[in-house]
Amino acid sequence: MIQLSLGKIKAFVLKPILLNCIFAGMNLEHLNELKKLLSSPKKIAIIPHKNPDGDAIGSTLALWHYLVNTGHTASIVAPNDYPKFLKWMPGSDQILNFEKENSQSKACINNADIICTLDFNHLGRVGQMSEILESAKATFVMVDHHQEPSDYAKIMYSDVKMSSTCEMVYVLINQLGDENSITPEMANCIYTGIMTDTGSFKFAATTSNTHRVIADLMDKGAEGTEIHHRIYDTNSPSRLHLLGCALKNMVILEEYSTAYITMSQDELDTYNYQKGDTEGFVNYGLTLDGIKFAVIFIENREEGIYKISFRSVGEFSVNDFARKHFSGGGHTNAAGGKSDDNLEETIAKFTSLLPLYKNQLQS
Ligand code: 5GP
Ligand code: MN
Repeated sequence: MIQLSLGKIKAFVLKPILLNCIFAGMNLEHLNELKKLLSSPKKIAIIPHKNPDGDAIGSTLALWHYLVNTGHTASIVAPNDYPKFLKWMPGSDQILNFEKENSQSKACINNADIICTLDFNHLGRVGQMSEILESAKATFVMVDHHQEPSDYAKIMYSDVKMSSTCEMVYVLINQLGDENSITPEMANCIYTGIMTDTGSFKFAATTSNTHRVIADLMDKGAEGTEIHHRIYDTNSPSRLHLLGCALKNMVILEEYSTAYITMSQDELDTYNYQKGDTEGFVNYGLTLDGIKFAVIFIENREEGIYKISFRSVGEFSVNDFARKHFSGGGHTNAAGGKSDDNLEETIAKFTSLLPLYKNQLQS
């Protein structure tokens, strides 16, 4: 009896809260076009960005489960591999790796009626895969929360205020009227991406809506504690030693409220670097009192570049900084980029730019 009435209260209270009050969602014209497209079975390719993170893998998997469960033929094609700590996610064993399963991946893209690109907004973010996507005949759908989207997608759901692409997939499924089709597997995938992109619900983009979504996902079977454990409690001794090396390398420039870390390929090799091992290292800079801008430069000898992660607190836009100076972009407080120069030149360029931003960084 009690459970029944609680269930009724949940259905009565939650649904209007989730649907009517809080989400801008996809614009109606685009939503209707998507509904029409999905009204008959389609062949769909789902694409995350290169070096996919928890949000990219979580959102593509949640959408994949949804589309397969609603009668479509869907495949996820990732531009390259992703960290082991994401490989427990339900459905992850079916993700194609474009670098390793090249002909199967190409066939999926070329044969697709619809291509959904998730957690990125310009085709340069998929590396080697951009050429084949540019020539694909499918209708493109974009679901993404980064700034300054380009216009390759006919159907766009772009919202820079959203915590994560996973939160957007949740909203989209609600908008499609299928909130009751969210399975525990989907709930776990969506929860994971929201958790990783919000730094466990602490970054500024975490809203009360985000928490409402998380609450509903828990009701639908997401196992928060277990997910946290699987993502964050999988350190190897060598990863902790690599972190020690990164922290030793940290340079603090108090004058500019900035801290940066460098990691050479030799250092990565010394500590048996595995994909994903440097995830989160950049954030340590921001834990220093007074630091507003944190950066990590990580060598990738194979690609001949330094991959850079930028983080900030407050108004200083690392999206603008990365876009303008390091061929990158992202969000106001988290962005990425790269440098083709050697470390010395890269750091010289970086430090020479800081005086231009001194006022912003000190305010
Ligand atoms: P991370 O530093 O963790 O790789 O990325 C931080 C944020 O910036 C993420 O949202 C990521 O998708 C985005 N990002 C990372 N690298 C790039 C890049 O090279 N270009 C653009 N436009 N965004 C990036
Ligand atoms: Mn994201």
